[in-house]
Amino acid sequence: MWLDECPSFWDEGRVRPLVTQSGKVVLRCDSCAAVWPTLSDFKEMEHVEPDEPDWVVAAGVHVRPGTFRWASAQDLEVAGMSGLSWRS
Ligand SMILES: [Zn+2]
Repeated sequence: MWLDECPSFWDEGRVRPLVTQSGKVVLRCDSCAAVWPTLSDFKEMEHVEPDEPDWVVAAGVHVRPGTFRWASAQDLEVAGMSGLSWRS
C-alpha cells in the first residue's frame, strides 16, 4: 500500500505507511531514507532522515531496524488515515 511517489527527484521509491514500535503510523519511502512524521509533513515536504544510533523520527517515535512493520489497511483505519487515496 502506498500513497504517492517519493518527491525526491533522484529517487523512484514510493511513500508507504509504517507502524512504529510506539504504534504511531508514519510515512516512509521504500527506497531512500526519507520519513515524514505526519501527513502534514508530507504535504509540506518536510521530511526527516532517521539514522543510527537512535533512528529518531519525532519525540518518542523511532524506526530502529527490526522494530517496525509496513502498515495494513486495518492499521490505517485505527490511525484515522483510511480516508486517504492509498494505492496498491
Ligand atoms: Zn525516496
